[in-house]
Amino acid sequence: MTDTIFTRAKFADGTLKTIRVSGGRIAAIDNEADVPGNGAPITNLDGALVLPGFVEGHIHLDTSFYGGKWISHKPCTNGFDVHERVEFQRQNMAIAEPMDVRARKQVELCISNGATAMRSHVMVDGSVGLASLETILQVREEYRDLIDIQLVAFPQSGILKSPGTPDLMDAAVGLGADLVGGLDPASFDRDIEGHLDVVFGIAERRGVDVDIHLHDAGTLGVFTIEQICARAKSLGMQGRVAVSHAYGLGDVGQDIAKRTAETLVEAGVSIMTNAPGAHNFPPVALLRAAGVAVFSGSDNVRDSWWPYGDGDMLGRANMIGYRSGFYTDEELEAAFDIVTTAGARALRLADYGLRIGAKADFVVLDAEHVPEAVASVPRERAVYKAGRLVAKGGKLV
Ligand SMILES: [Zn+2]
Repeated sequence: MTDTIFTRAKFADGTLKTIRVSGGRIAAIDNEADVPGNGAPITNLDGALVLPGFVEGHIHLDTSFYGGKWISHKPCTNGFDVHERVEFQRQNMAIAEPMDVRARKQVELCISNGATAMRSHVMVDGSVGLASLETILQVREEYRDLIDIQLVAFPQSGILKSPGTPDLMDAAVGLGADLVGGLDPASFDRDIEGHLDVVFGIAERRGVDVDIHLHDAGTLGVFTIEQICARAKSLGMQGRVAVSHAYGLGDVGQDIAKRTAETLVEAGVSIMTNAPGAHNFPPVALLRAAGVAVFSGSDNVRDSWWPYGDGDMLGRANMIGYRSGFYTDEELEAAFDIVTTAGARALRLADYGLRIGAKADFVVLDAEHVPEAVASVPRERAVYKAGRLVAKGGKLV
């Protein structure tokens, strides 16, 4: 009953194997480069490196301008101000292409780069209501055979500061959002307890996971992380809560970072970092050594926040390694783990990886091994979802 046989597939350890795919899953991995066919179609990978599908763990499908007209970045008038950036975003959204058009371009960009799973935050607040989520839910449906997408109800304008938002976030989960989000409980809403009451209240009532944007610096950021960890622990939500950005962990000294890492492990809270250029960011190696699930994402791709971003998680692994001072093969492999296996752990993706029984989601490219792939970021890739070729040469097939 094999659907497809992939021969001469090079695994990370350098061995050539044969992968048999059945019903969209890896049915067998044979330790020979070529096995006799049984009538099923054979794809000869010719010794190319096979990697598990990339996990795009944090993106914003509703606010990117990628693929549309270039919209120049507008600096804040008086130093960085989240409220002003949100206002610029509102102005930009009014002149950009329709949201569904932009979201499709971004999803296709990510798939063609090798993402087979994604978590996108989608604005849900008093200004846009549930309209953005409705659009992105439709786009998710269109691409369901090409990529698995989780959606986070993201309160871009705060929860307590934006009237009606708690009810809208709850309704968003009812509509199909998979997680409930949050945004800087201290600096944005100026009420950590009140903000987290809403977020974890919805999570508990609806049985969904949590992923909170936390840009707050230094000890304020760390203190907020401690409060989030306490909630996760007391609600028995270990493994189901993520903090995105967590810049504060990159500001504090090693002792505090280590102590916080232990708190994160105990509470089963993961950390998302995209290794942003202009910020301190979490000490990736320290967190991983303690056992924290560190994952990554593109975050903003050519939007009102910055003009960068290419939806390439292999490039992101390169960036994380570059900014973290990762040079050894083991360190480069760690950077790769962040955009693959650790990402799958943080997103609680069942059936992930190059193993029997897992979904046959993988990326094929030309590199000697994982460290070289992270260092060289080959552009030419073939992307397989459920054993089917879905993208090649930077385009969907
Ligand atoms: Zn974000």
